[in-house]
Amino acid sequence: MSFDYDLFVIGGGSGGVRAARMAAHECGAKVALAEQERYGGTCVIRGCVPKKLMVFASEFSRIPDESKAYGWQFDSHTMDWSTFSHNLHSEIDRLEGVYRNLLAHAGVDCFDMRAQIKDSHTVELAFGEQFTAKYILVATGGHPVRPAMPNAQFGMVSDDIFHLSELPNSILIVGGGYVACEFACLLNGLGVKVTQFYRGEQILRGFDNEARDLISSQMLADGIDVQVNANIDMMELVTTFKKPSNDRSQEGGTVSQELAGPEKIGSTGPFKVRGTNGYEGVFDKVFFAVGRSPNSSDLGLEDVGVALGDRGEIIVDSYSQTSVPSIFAVGDVTNRVNLTPVAIREATAFVETIFKAGKVPVDHELIPSAVFTQPELGSVGLSEERAAEQESIAVYSTSFKPMRSSFAGLSNKVLMKLVVSRSSHKVLGCTIVAPGAAEMIQFAGIAIKMGATKSDFDRTVAVHPTMSEEIVTMRHATRVS
Ligand code: NDP
Repeated sequence: MSFDYDLFVIGGGSGGVRAARMAAHECGAKVALAEQERYGGTCVIRGCVPKKLMVFASEFSRIPDESKAYGWQFDSHTMDWSTFSHNLHSEIDRLEGVYRNLLAHAGVDCFDMRAQIKDSHTVELAFGEQFTAKYILVATGGHPVRPAMPNAQFGMVSDDIFHLSELPNSILIVGGGYVACEFACLLNGLGVKVTQFYRGEQILRGFDNEARDLISSQMLADGIDVQVNANIDMMELVTTFKKPSNDRSQEGGTVSQELAGPEKIGSTGPFKVRGTNGYEGVFDKVFFAVGRSPNSSDLGLEDVGVALGDRGEIIVDSYSQTSVPSIFAVGDVTNRVNLTPVAIREATAFVETIFKAGKVPVDHELIPSAVFTQPELGSVGLSEERAAEQESIAVYSTSFKPMRSSFAGLSNKVLMKLVVSRSSHKVLGCTIVAPGAAEMIQFAGIAIKMGATKSDFDRTVAVHPTMSEEIVTMRHATRVS
């Protein structure tokens, strides 16, 4: 049977673009790709890249104070949001252009529109034209969700935050995961008064407890009002009004009203909020960072027999193959490990399996990752708590004031931590909380992925004077369990 294409990719984010380019360029496959919004997906357009630029922008705010002990005097502390915002969007435009060019140079046919699956080998574009393909790859990503509560639709989500025309004076961030903590720190650095509600005992659930505690205490010390065991109990719009000039009953003021009607979406605030812990406050904006859902609806997946999980994720095997043999899926739509480099790895393994020799399963073991809080959290492998559930461990942990901030009279601390198996002596996990931890953990990740033991770390000579030298100089276990 002949097909219009060898591969039809739905979704032009990190995973989809990598698979399309690689199949076309390296394997000579005839490839098409449909993207309904912008090329680059969540990472480039409304995620990692603009977020990291906002992190950089926010970090400059610390320099005037920190640099005083080093003899510098900065006269001005002002941040021009409109300049930054303009430059941010220019950079996103540039990167989107790079993605488009990469696809064009690889010879991929791009369709700037939505696509749906009609049968196991047929894709229909929004304007009705149908194409057949030997393989279909779904790489449609995910989207931020709002909690199920009255008026939640009027709060912001991460997609909206990059389009603020001006920074709010105050914001309530709901959630305690990656997005909530990263934006709490960066918006605080940009001068926004940040309050964070997290429904559990401590933010960043799933990470090492010592790291969570250190980051939380640093966020509090930096002025972020982190409220734990707190969620929104009530949220309503505060309308500022002026009385007509002939009405002398009062000078004007504010009224609270329950939000109603879609006309308010996106243009709302300030909000009066009551927390489940009794906390009450008024915030210019409310930002929900309560997780993401796979973009799997209205693609025709169920109709052609592609199995979905409880959260709408496409169920795939270790080769990213769905329950329909000709249809594959990679990235956040499969809700495995929702990170850009993982989507790229999944796409690469898919192309190697289908268009190159041999079956290449995706390796989801020992993935290093970072949370861009301030300070950053880098981790690879197991936390102390997870490791202790599995076997007997020795913990090597040190927390100290780094030289740079100590000299400047600042109180912030860093954490360097290794979790080691007492039977195999392998390093099971490494957690670093420090400025630059994201850069450091990449290299620790190589050693741990190679199966390094504690003695391999010990025989590595320290780089001095650095924070990370502690990772190879911790001789005595802090505790064993
Ligand atoms: P996460 O799943 O990491 O965090 C969601 C947070 O919201 C959790 O704290 C969760 O609480 C809380 N929550 C969930 N539902 C509710 C609710 N109904 N009411 C109140 N709180 C709620 O999601 P994110 O959106 O932060 O990030 C999504 C994914 O994107 C991450 O898991 C990560 O894979 C990826 N990402 C990676 C980044 C990076 O690599 N630096 C940066 C940003 C995102 P609880 O803990 O109790 O479940």
